[in-house]
Amino acid sequence: MKTLSMMITNMEVHDVGMSLMLYNTLTKKKESFKPLRNKLVRIYFCGPTVQDVPHIGHARAYVAFDVLIRYLRYLGYRIMYVRNVTDIDDKIIRKANELKITPFEVAEMYWREFYEISKALNLIPPNIEPRATGHIPEIIELIKKLIEKGYAYVTNKGDVYFDVLKFKEYGKLSGQKIEELQAGARIEPGEDKRNPLDFALWKAAKPGEPSWPSPWGPGRPGWHIECSAMSLKYLGETIDIHAGGADLIFPHHENEIAQSEAATGKPFARFWVHIGLLNIKEEKMSKSLGNIIPVREVLRRYDAETIRYWIAKTHYRKPLNFEWKQLDEAEVILDKMYSIIFKAENEAKKRSKGELGIIEKEVARYEKDFLNAMNDDLNTPKALSILRNLVEYLDKNLVHLNKTQIEFIIGKIRELGWIFGILQQDLEERIDEKKLRGKDISKFAPPGFGLGEKLAEELLDILIDVRSELRRRKIFDLADSIREKLRVIGIVLEDTKEGTIWKIS
Ligand SMILES: [Zn+2]
Repeated sequence: MKTLSMMITNMEVHDVGMSLMLYNTLTKKKESFKPLRNKLVRIYFCGPTVQDVPHIGHARAYVAFDVLIRYLRYLGYRIMYVRNVTDIDDKIIRKANELKITPFEVAEMYWREFYEISKALNLIPPNIEPRATGHIPEIIELIKKLIEKGYAYVTNKGDVYFDVLKFKEYGKLSGQKIEELQAGARIEPGEDKRNPLDFALWKAAKPGEPSWPSPWGPGRPGWHIECSAMSLKYLGETIDIHAGGADLIFPHHENEIAQSEAATGKPFARFWVHIGLLNIKEEKMSKSLGNIIPVREVLRRYDAETIRYWIAKTHYRKPLNFEWKQLDEAEVILDKMYSIIFKAENEAKKRSKGELGIIEKEVARYEKDFLNAMNDDLNTPKALSILRNLVEYLDKNLVHLNKTQIEFIIGKIRELGWIFGILQQDLEERIDEKKLRGKDISKFAPPGFGLGEKLAEELLDILIDVRSELRRRKIFDLADSIREKLRVIGIVLEDTKEGTIWKIS
């Protein structure tokens, strides 16, 4: 009987462990995640407004979400991931006026910077990255539909507003009642909307602003409507996950729900995932406080894996406090893990192959704990510590492991590390990253590393001297044979006026 009950308990643990529980801002609880369509997960992430360089707060949101994308892939899902670019907006127009260039140039310039940063941080690129200005016809169609259904109205100036009071469920995402929201809202001078909560779907063009023709006169789309239009176009009426920074819950995502659900009559997104914000010394990062830290500055000091490790150490929904010393700590830990892996890789070369034996089960235990942590609403701090334990396990047992076992453990470490985007480099790549930033490589490089290179250069210099001497003594056949033998191994000698130089071909 005991055996049977143990079996059932184990099965239950296994079942729970295999299901990803994800916190849903809409229902305010963790729910079992299953996509609507079999194995395909349709995801929309509210991307950047390209009006300035990305800062470390952006990096936190993108990297934390990238872990979810990677984990869903790891679980075997196919991903249809759309991340928009807001390339027309009040802030972009303001910046263009400041810089005395067009808003289109501003958007292009900062989109390029965003793209470079995304690559440098090893973010998985979205399947589609649509821009607002490329979707004006879709946006106009959606606004027309909302007017027809009585959810939106046109003002005398040619602005179009969404009528919040018509959408009975307004406030359901942020958990606020319309009356409460109304108490805090007011109509700005120059706005002729019916209710302070009503938000712009279409803004009539002011002189000198970029505009597009519409049934309501020339103008440009409001911010919220672009996401609804592009999500509907590429992902359909009901998607699996809609995500963004926690600062977007209200009003942006609340408004997206209102517009989309008013237009289609269907739930817009099943799961709403929000990434916690980043603070600098407990303060919000903002221009007015002068505490903005561009991602590029952080990347100058730390490699992407260190930044990713530091971000994953905090649960994605919690606020993350930025401190340089935390990045130092992350780098030390990561280097320690790398030094163990490199040492083990080096040892494996000297050992012979053998049975996996007990190692298979031992590693499976770590893996199961790791997956259970990840399945619990992406408990990355816990999963990271389990991964560290697995690396320590390799270190402790290295003396008596065979080649097959070492390779198996390292394979699993690298496989699980991929979910965080860490531990993916080989020794040379890691050394290069360090050298690039002028860092000490002795901590994790094996003894004697780098000596080989220096030695080779010195030997080459000796060979060149010998060859020159042979030529001086007119022993050309021997001199030529040295040159030919070097050519075969990829080193080309060139005789110049200043002497002989060598190149790697
Ligand atoms: Zn959005």
